Amino acid sequence: MNFTLSDKLQNKLNRIQSFLEKEIYPIEHLFLNHHWDELFAALESCRLKVKSLKLWAPNMPKSEGGTFENLTELALIGEVLGQSPLGHFVFGCQAPDAGNAELLHLFGTGEQKEKWLKPLVAGKIRSCFAMTEPHTAGSNPTLLDSRAELKDGNWHINGRKWFTTSAEGAAFTIAMVVTNPDAPKHKRASMIIVPLETKGFEIVRNISVMGAKGKGYFSHAEVTFNDCVVPQENIIGGDGDGFALAQERLGPGRIQHCMRWLGIGKRSIQVSKEFLNRRKISNSQVLAQQPLMQAAIAESLADLSAARLLVLQTASNIDNYGFEKAKNEVSLIKFHTANVVQRVVDRSLQSLGGLGMTDDTVLSFFYREERAARIYDGADEVHKIVAAKRFLNS
Ligand SMILES: Cc1cc2nc3c(=O)[nH]c(=O)nc-3n(C[C@H](O)[C@H](O)[C@H](O)COP(=O)(O)OP(=O)(O)OC[C@H]3O[C@@H](n4cnc5c(N)ncnc54)[C@H](O)[C@@H]3O)c2cc1C
Repeated sequence: MNFTLSDKLQNKLNRIQSFLEKEIYPIEHLFLNHHWDELFAALESCRLKVKSLKLWAPNMPKSEGGTFENLTELALIGEVLGQSPLGHFVFGCQAPDAGNAELLHLFGTGEQKEKWLKPLVAGKIRSCFAMTEPHTAGSNPTLLDSRAELKDGNWHINGRKWFTTSAEGAAFTIAMVVTNPDAPKHKRASMIIVPLETKGFEIVRNISVMGAKGKGYFSHAEVTFNDCVVPQENIIGGDGDGFALAQERLGPGRIQHCMRWLGIGKRSIQVSKEFLNRRKISNSQVLAQQPLMQAAIAESLADLSAARLLVLQTASNIDNYGFEKAKNEVSLIKFHTANVVQRVVDRSLQSLGGLGMTDDTVLSFFYREERAARIYDGADEVHKIVAAKRFLNS
């Protein structure tokens, strides 16, 4: 497998890296210290610059207003952007909007694309994705019980969801709800677009996650649907297609998550390197001269390189042979990369001593992020079971 990059792509990655260092790293402190109003203004200005550089929405095809070429290229861009918690948002390819946009692009009707996809890709509105429920196991979504009933040409939706990331300030959610309670378990649910201004929709709270409560795009909400009424045509795909669509949404999205995490790992090693090279532990030595610190760096570099190859191989296989053929690799990279990067961030954080625990550097945020990475979009155990079963039964 050849991962030699064309001059054109290398040049694009260099431009993105340079933008990150010049424009995004300097505003990260606003995010880490929760100066939300200043942050959102600064982000908006960065987004305008990215649009003028014609680097906006690398996950969407040109026909939809993006710059997508192929999944391998997107993965490499995602790695660069992942080095900052703000990277994907500034470039218009942030979760959960990216997954929702990709879904609407593939399966939305003309009207849905006009009304929701266009402004979403343009960055004029935001969205969220409401599948997980507090009272049912998210690892087995066939158990979910939030309901949508069709009456007189409208869906009447009732239920409770949580971890609806970015709900605060979003224009709509895609809600995964049961429309056919008596159907076979993988045909019971559908995805329905619910504008958040719909009567009966409520954000109950923004959840505090490991001590951090985000705002707007950076929040995770618990939400309720109390007889929310939306038109029948707000369904995406057909009635009962929810699980098939979820696979489409989450599958290639996992490559994007993995590459973002690799970016997190890369930046973490960089932050550690800068600290080790300047931190004096005696009159004549800096930490970088300590063999134990050197060993930690070497382990992180090796871990990251190996995981990176696995993810790029999977992206390339999806590009060449389609998602169906690479399904097992996707499960493997999901749990493997999340665990590798968690270890890398942990070593880097340790190397900074007390500073690593503060929000003066990006590492404590990355630490929380990588812990969550082992849970969202399928917990470690679930991916391990799925991959092992496929192998054992093949
Ligand atoms: C930061 C963050 C953001 C999120 N964003 C969203 C979002 O935008 N939209 C959304 O819908 N959801 C979102 N989620 C929810 C996430 O997808 C679920 O938390 C995840 O699917 C796990 O479901 P659960 O929490 O109900 O855990 P459960 O299913 O209750 O599982 C609990 C634990 O049990 C173990 N386990 C589960 N099944 C098995 C098994 N078969 N065998 C062995 N062990 C098992 C795993 O260790 C798992 O962590 C987010 C979660 C986090 C943490």
